[in-house]
Formats: sequence, structure tokens, C-alpha cells
Amino acid sequence: MQNNERQAMKNSIIKTLGFVLVSSLAGACNSTAQNAPPHNPYYSRTDTTHLNVSNKEWKKVLTPELYAVARAGETEMAFTGKYYEFDVKGTYYCAACGNPLFRSTAKFSTTCGWPSFFETLRPNSVRYKDDYAYNMTRTEVLCGRCDAHLGHVFDDGPAPTGKRFCMNSISLEFEPDQK
Ligand code: FE
Repeated sequence: MQNNERQAMKNSIIKTLGFVLVSSLAGACNSTAQNAPPHNPYYSRTDTTHLNVSNKEWKKVLTPELYAVARAGETEMAFTGKYYEFDVKGTYYCAACGNPLFRSTAKFSTTCGWPSFFETLRPNSVRYKDDYAYNMTRTEVLCGRCDAHLGHVFDDGPAPTGKRFCMNSISLEFEPDQK
């Protein structure tokens, strides 16, 4: 092989590697962008007006992971959510619409695998729906503002309410108290 051919091959390999590197970096950026919350025109922590937004519209606004739980009623795997073992003072909001849902003072530690609370921030923070899926009778908990699926409520919680609001971490957004 001639020297100039060798040099051309070297250049070509360097170019290819560079392209692969740039492509994978771009891919990494894209996947980060996909996971970041897109612009959500329905999000507000102060507006309590009930939202009537179609799933088609929510699909454009929410990340696929949040859509699957909040709009399609899926449940995140036990012991995997970011707020399961989390003990910081602050407020939990609906991740889909910003509605204030729980205070950290109502959170208690459980072995169930999901973040659990004994009361909601306001009585109308959430609404309830009978759920008969999987041959069980349960009470589904929905966001009072946007109807996002949050989780279920059970009667085996601690005093003073005896309730256990068993929530999906992904449906919640936490804001720590200002110091
Ligand atoms: Fe909501």
C-alpha cells in the first residue's frame, strides 16, 4: 500500500469514528430531550379549574413514561419509584398538571414498595373511582384537577386517618420547602 493510500485510509477511519461519536452524542442528547418534560400548557400549581384534556392531547404533552401511568393507568414496579424511600420536607404535586396533592408530613414509611401518604393536602386534591380490575375491589385515586391516575387508597394506613394513599412516584412531582 502506498503511503498516500495509507494516509487516505487513516483519514477515512478517523472521519468514520468521528461520525459515530457525534451520532451517538446526538442520540444521547435526543434521549435526554425525550425524557425531559416537554412544554405543558396545562401545568399550573395555582389554577384549580378542572381540566378536560383528551388523551390524544396528553400524549403530546407528557413523557411516554408518565403518560403510561397517568393516562393509561399502569402501575410502576414496586420498590423502583424515586419517592418510595424519600424523606424530605416539601410538597408533592401532580406531575401531569401541577395540582398540589400531598405534604411530606403526611408521608409514612411502608414496606409496600410505593410512596404512601395518610391524607391528601386538600379534600378535593384528588377524586376517587371504584376499580374492579384484576378481580379485586379497590379505590382508584385520580388527580382532582386533571384526572391523572395516581394510584389507589386502602384502609390499612396509620392514624389519624387510617388511610394509605399508595401512589406511583412517576405521577408525583416533589418541591422541597424553602429553607
Ligand atoms: Fe393532575
